[in-house]
Amino acid sequence: MSENGEIYDIIIIGGGPAGFTAALYASRARRNVLLLESLAVMGEAVMTEAIENFPGIKKISGFDFIETLRSQAEVFGLKIEQGTVKRVYSYEKSGRLIWKVEDEEGNVRETFSVIIATGAGPRKIQVPGEKEFLGRGVSYCALCDGAFFRDKNIVVVGGGDAAVEEALFLTRFGKDVTLVHRRDKLRAVKILQERAFAEKKLRFIWNSTVEEIKGSSKVEKVVLKNLKTNILSEIDCDGIFIFAGWQPNTDFVRGTVKLDEAGSINVDSDMKTSQNGIFGAGDCCKKSLHQIITACADGALAAFFAGQYVDEGKFYV
Ligand code: NAP
Repeated sequence: MSENGEIYDIIIIGGGPAGFTAALYASRARRNVLLLESLAVMGEAVMTEAIENFPGIKKISGFDFIETLRSQAEVFGLKIEQGTVKRVYSYEKSGRLIWKVEDEEGNVRETFSVIIATGAGPRKIQVPGEKEFLGRGVSYCALCDGAFFRDKNIVVVGGGDAAVEEALFLTRFGKDVTLVHRRDKLRAVKILQERAFAEKKLRFIWNSTVEEIKGSSKVEKVVLKNLKTNILSEIDCDGIFIFAGWQPNTDFVRGTVKLDEAGSINVDSDMKTSQNGIFGAGDCCKKSLHQIITACADGALAAFFAGQYVDEGKFYV
């Protein structure tokens, strides 16, 4: 039983686009909903300087977008609490399956259904110096840390949308920005590539990986390896921003729901996981297009089918 004796219809874990959209739909459907958000986890959307591909909104910052979603859901009575969830487990009560959601503080809340919308965290490139210089030149968030590198030399790693978008953003601060990519072409969408190739402060080092990040008290150099020639070289830099993709935040449900080899939650088209009563939404799930709009769509579907599950009383053991 939850501390206050309450059994929620739906507990949503995660306060990103998927979680807040699920919360909006579920609250508006007059479900008894709780959204748990973790202060320890900063989602990709909120770290985005400008979202310009969400239909109906020309341009908005990630922060404003999330705050708008939050207040929109709160209009319909959404309850939000802080909590980093460490485990989700079940028991049977009068033939019904009840899920317990336990956070790192030891608080346990109970619910008939759970929507996991915990998103993903930055993937590490696993090189010497990456961990050691975190916060001392190594960063995964241009919006958070870019201003610390005014008139400095900045290296960006990656060739996807995030790397190119953030490299462009960092040209506002850096003396120069060098994008290091392991292939000879970018993965980012064409419009971002056009902007990047037109930006004078941005230069590219192709077919290369970062092998090591060096410095004394803070980052001073990165060691690069040319993958065609295997030749190592060093470039001076003050900051290195790494955008090598994302790792789903799903460790806390490993063994509870089925994950794929990358750790993404397997969901069906109704956002159902391998466990009755547990649904997934957004970037923590296995999917082919990781975008804010698809995360929102997942959230709406998860809320709908979680609600249907609660209504139908299908609480299998
Ligand atoms: P991503 O598309 O997976 O790109 C990751 C990049 O990092 C790739 O270029 C990859 O190289 C490189 N990489 C991976 N591991 C590496 C390693 N160990 N060392 C060096 N490089 C490494 O990730 P993302 O850019 O973060 O984007 C994630 C999702 O969010 C995508 O679906 C993207 O479209 C979306 N997103 C959209 C926008 C937007 O619409 N404006 C903005 C940001 C993100 P390879 O190319 O060789 O694989």
